[in-house]
Amino acid sequence: MHTITLIPGDGIGPSITGAVVKIVEASGLAVRWDRVSAGVSGMEKHGTPLDSSVLDSIRSTRVALKGPLTTPVGSGFRSINVALRKEFDLYVNLRPVRSFAGVNSRYSDIDLTIIRENTEGLYIGEERYADPEKNVAEMVGRISRVGSERVIRFAFEYARTHGRKKVTVAHKANILKLTSGMFLEVARAISSEFSDVELDEKIIDNMAMQMVLDPHQFDIVVTTNLFGDILSDLASGLVGGLGLAPGANIGKDAAIFEAVHGSAPDIAGKNIANPTALLLGGVMMLRHLGENEHAARIERALTAVISEGKNVTRDLNSTSGVGTAEMAEAVIHKLK
Ligand code: NAD
Repeated sequence: MHTITLIPGDGIGPSITGAVVKIVEASGLAVRWDRVSAGVSGMEKHGTPLDSSVLDSIRSTRVALKGPLTTPVGSGFRSINVALRKEFDLYVNLRPVRSFAGVNSRYSDIDLTIIRENTEGLYIGEERYADPEKNVAEMVGRISRVGSERVIRFAFEYARTHGRKKVTVAHKANILKLTSGMFLEVARAISSEFSDVELDEKIIDNMAMQMVLDPHQFDIVVTTNLFGDILSDLASGLVGGLGLAPGANIGKDAAIFEAVHGSAPDIAGKNIANPTALLLGGVMMLRHLGENEHAARIERALTAVISEGKNVTRDLNSTSGVGTAEMAEAVIHKLK
């Protein structure tokens, strides 16, 4: 029996996490879900977006499945996703992107993995006004050698253990010589220990264009926090959109599995969100727990449903009247 922290999340979160829980249970895996609320839902329940019950639960289970959490734009509370990554030192954000048969997308045969540094860089949200009139604002983009080393080493080891041949480091070391420059310098040093994995260097703006024009040249991509955030949404667009892209936040003591996408307020409450991204996050979680058989069965069932193209949400088939719950039922039917 596994005990897993479940954070249903905001917006489309409760609907897609509900679908994933049903599918995981239908696979026959014995799970006790420890349900806790964070984000806007946490605010409503506890008066704070990150209650101690959430932290206590993850501290004890060391593994969580998390629906997307809304972060107010411009003002309001700070990102709970960032707070969780920081609290549990989840320094790797592993974001695999692959093509699915049956999905009408720009490319087929895409199979690349973005590894995003998850605790440093411009994403840490350290900002301040530089003058009393609040007419100038500044932000901190902190990069450390230790922080760079551990995520870049993870990328090279991941490449080696998964039979991958190339790690591309995406950087802006031509302009950001100290910060991005340090990340690149560390990548060069670590690559010298991995003679079986090629190091490829790309400046981030060129990288964005190359990913659109010729994504097949990429295998494993490692980059700093904000670049990784943007590149992984771009990568999901190559294969059919955010509905298909999962992510894992991994540290030494805990791991949180989620979708790359957010709470999608524009489609919340309509039963039309694609549950695939979070389900693939769930599949990554099962593998993390050593439940490879269950993970493979769920992935096969999902792949079959997507390739048939009938019982899929409308982001995958514009003529489909199938919703989140019905797509989940179709996956369960295939499982059985
Ligand atoms: P979003 O990812 O929520 O949505 C972007 C677009 O993709 C929208 O048009 C949405 O309808 C569509 N989309 C997203 N998920 C989908 C799915 N499963 N099926 C079908 N279509 C889907 O990005 P946003 O609108 O910029 O952000 C909304 C909120 O989510 C913000 O508060 C943001 O901070 C938060 N967010 C949270 C996370 C997270 O929890 N890890 C990640 C990204 C954004």
